[in-house]
Amino acid sequence: MKPTDMPLEVWEALCRKCGKCCTEKIDIDGRIYSSKKYCRFLDTRIMQCTVYEDRHVAEPGCMSVPDGVKAGIFPADCPYIQDVKDYVPTIEEWDNPAIDQAIREILGDDAI
Ligand code: SF4
Ligand code: SF4
Repeated sequence: MKPTDMPLEVWEALCRKCGKCCTEKIDIDGRIYSSKKYCRFLDTRIMQCTVYEDRHVAEPGCMSVPDGVKAGIFPADCPYIQDVKDYVPTIEEWDNPAIDQAIREILGDDAI
């Protein structure tokens, strides 16, 4: 699925506003782990970006959907990756103290 295949408003309406792609993430051995720390621009009460129109300027690390697909920042249940062949989703849950520790060291205690 590509933005060019449908009107922008239809494309954007696919987003369920779960906020999962707005978490900070780390790459460990080629897999992307999603932390519990949200981008500072996400209003977590309503899971919406507070700088949406200027998000790529306000937060240079904020990715477009095509770039985010390439980087693997979307979870398995995100509508934007449902038809993407061989997409590898973010890891949202794990039972591994070493991963917890790695995330703490890079993103801080509030990321776990
Ligand atoms: S993970 Fe997908 S559905 Fe959730 S906020 Fe991001 S783009 Fe929207
Ligand atoms: S700037 Fe990007 S990552 Fe941050 S809340 Fe907005 S859409 Fe999400």
